[in-house]
Parts: sequence; C-alpha cells; structure tokens
Amino acid sequence: MAATDKLIAGYQRFREGYYQQNKEQLLKLAEQGQFPKIAIVCCSDSRVDPAIILDCEPGDLFVIRNVANLVPPRESCDSFHGTSAALEFAVNGLQVESIIVLGHTQCGGIKALMDSEPTSKPDTFISKWMKQLEHVRNEILEDENCCDKEQRYHVCEQKGIVQSLTNLMTFPCIEERVTTGKLKLHGWCYDLNSAELFAMSNNSGEFKKIS
Ligand SMILES: [Zn+2]
Repeated sequence: MAATDKLIAGYQRFREGYYQQNKEQLLKLAEQGQFPKIAIVCCSDSRVDPAIILDCEPGDLFVIRNVANLVPPRESCDSFHGTSAALEFAVNGLQVESIIVLGHTQCGGIKALMDSEPTSKPDTFISKWMKQLEHVRNEILEDENCCDKEQRYHVCEQKGIVQSLTNLMTFPCIEERVTTGKLKLHGWCYDLNSAELFAMSNNSGEFKKIS
C-alpha cells in the first residue's frame, strides 16, 4: 500500500463528510475570498499542525511553515524569501490582526543547530537556514546554568521564538502596525508530550502555560 493511499481515502471521507457538512461556509470562502485574522509561523514538523492543535476551520489561519518556525530578519529583495513574502502578504494584503510564532518541543531543526560543530560551515540548506540562530546557540552553550542537553534544546526552542518576534519588527510594515496598535505579536510553544501550550508574556522571554 502506497503512503498516498491513506490520503486518497482521507480525501474521500472529507468529500463525503466534512465537505458536505460545511459546504455553505467552504463555498462562501471560495466565492468571497479569505479573511483570516491571524497569521501563524510554525514548524514543518508533521506533529505540529496548527489547525488541529488550535481546532481551527479553513479560513481561520494564514499558515506559514518552515524548519523550526523561524522568521528571518528583513533582507533586501535580491533573493528568494518565502517566509518574508508570506508575512508581507499576511500584513499588507490580508491585514491580519495577530501574528503568532508557534514553536514546539523536540524540534529537529533546533536539535540539528545545537548539535552542530561551532565552527562548521553550512553545507546544506538546513544548516544555512539554522545559522540565523547561531548567536542564540552560542549564548546557551556558554551558559553554565544550562548544561543538560535536553534543557539546552528547550531553551533554544524558546529563545528561537523570541528571536523570531524580534526579527518580525525589522519589517517596516509590521513595525508600523505594531506601534500603532493594529497588529499584535505572540510567541507560543507547544509541548508534544503533554499537549500543553505556553505563551510568552509581555516580551519577557518567560513562557507561561495557557490553561
Ligand atoms: Zn520543529
């Protein structure tokens, strides 16, 4: 049985079940367009599907996924910037009210970064991509209070979210809307083991459980 057979069977269930039950809303979205109020930057990890974790419907979330849910700092338009392009559209086109950076525990991208040699030159797309958090990685490795491997991963997951929130503010369209109160930024982290969700409070870098 091919892996895609599961998807075909799922599609058939969707057409007969969810689609029929929500046809009116889905056709409305098709005819009138999407107006999501929230953009969410999350990891490509197959275990962290924001629509499932947050129980959302089509049209609710503008989803931007990449390795380790990173927002790179704004750079010139000379290269191909998928995440920046999606953010630009979310803010200028869709005029979302919130951007959430959703991280998670046991992130493979974060582990790859923390386990890499400090002096290694990036030789893959993923190592180059994760290099944007190299200074965060170095800070953690130098922190004597943070010497447990699992603890280091978790700290890096959280600090990566904080860095992404900082980088969001390097985009003038985002900075302007945040400053004028039209846009809010949020940092959340999902625990794969406990299914608990944590939110950073008031730019403190501290994450508190959402009950
Ligand atoms: Zn991840």
